[in-house]
Amino acid sequence: MSGRLAGAVLVLNCGSSSLKYRLFDGADTLAHGLVERIGEPGGDAADHGAALGSVLSTLDLTGLAAVGHRVVHGGPDFSAPAVVDDAVVDAVRRLIPLAPLHNPANLAGIEVARRLLPNVPQVAVFDTAFHATMPEATATYAIDVEVARRLRVRKYGFHGTSHAYVSRCAATLLGRPPAEVNVITLHLGNGASACAVHGGRSIATTMGMTPLPGLVMGTRSGDIDPAVVFHLHRVGGMSIDEIDNLLNRDGGLRGLAGENDMRAVLRRRSEGDAAATLAFDVYCTRIKQYVGAYLALLGRLDAIAFTAGVGENAPVVRAAALAGLAGLGIAVDPDRNARAEPVISPPGSPVTVCVIPTDEEFEIAEQTRHALA
Ligand code: AMP
Repeated sequence: MSGRLAGAVLVLNCGSSSLKYRLFDGADTLAHGLVERIGEPGGDAADHGAALGSVLSTLDLTGLAAVGHRVVHGGPDFSAPAVVDDAVVDAVRRLIPLAPLHNPANLAGIEVARRLLPNVPQVAVFDTAFHATMPEATATYAIDVEVARRLRVRKYGFHGTSHAYVSRCAATLLGRPPAEVNVITLHLGNGASACAVHGGRSIATTMGMTPLPGLVMGTRSGDIDPAVVFHLHRVGGMSIDEIDNLLNRDGGLRGLAGENDMRAVLRRRSEGDAAATLAFDVYCTRIKQYVGAYLALLGRLDAIAFTAGVGENAPVVRAAALAGLAGLGIAVDPDRNARAEPVISPPGSPVTVCVIPTDEEFEIAEQTRHALA
């Protein structure tokens, strides 16, 4: 046995037609990769079983301690990672109605891994779990309580592993324990959400029962008057599926500017394109609104942390989202911002603004180890 792999953790992130994997030994990555177009003609594998089988055949799994699975929706059932047994599998299956696109793929990954690695413990790490600490006052929708209870309608939030990881890193950057630090984390990727983290615990986040609300995203509208849905149906004659597409897949930057990639929007904006300029303004203004809202909820703010594709790579978005907030103790230093230094606020700022690359897979590996410890 090669002691090298003792305590190794394999992290699996299964999408409907993809399988992403990363093998960790402590913080070191031993192997990583992506199988794509699973089940599609000309794809890399016929199903998730074949995909994982071929991945496993390439890896040296001597001493593998655990497999950690990303699971998108833990519903009301999971407020922490769960060591997988039959009851956990059944619970993830019962949650499919809350996440019809994601949970079936996550479940397929769990079932295949249990079959192919029967003697290795498996842990499910939920995107929603970090937000289980939200108080009822921010998690509750003001609708008939009986309907809400029966259909499990409430705010769950997502990107939890990223918000957990980034808020902890922000505390480290400040040299203080997470329990003493209040942070607003801004996860700005293709999907995007903000989170108010009070002393290491999520107290509010912009995504809801589903990932649709909150910030403007690549293809999701974010916040919208819910009555627009009635209007589109009754007056516009659109079906529920068409409206679902309009808001979830053809909304956000794509809806406003015709493309979901912020790089393209920024390029067109710099050339004076009006649609791209409006898309940028709506995107950044929405972030600013939530920074203000979460500052009020937190009462005292120590740090704002930008992360994910846009948050880590787009200085112009960071600057615009926080412009004009000096009165709230929030400022961005142009040079530090352009260089994407870890801290981009000027020295001595009341609120430390930082850029922290997220690492959801590392966080899943960590939580997997903790769940088994
Ligand atoms: P993620 O979901 O975290 O992988 O983020 C993906 C998104 O990040 C892409 O769709 C791009 O819109 C955005 N992105 C990546 N690189 C850059 C960049 N250099 N400038 C602006 N946006 C970027």
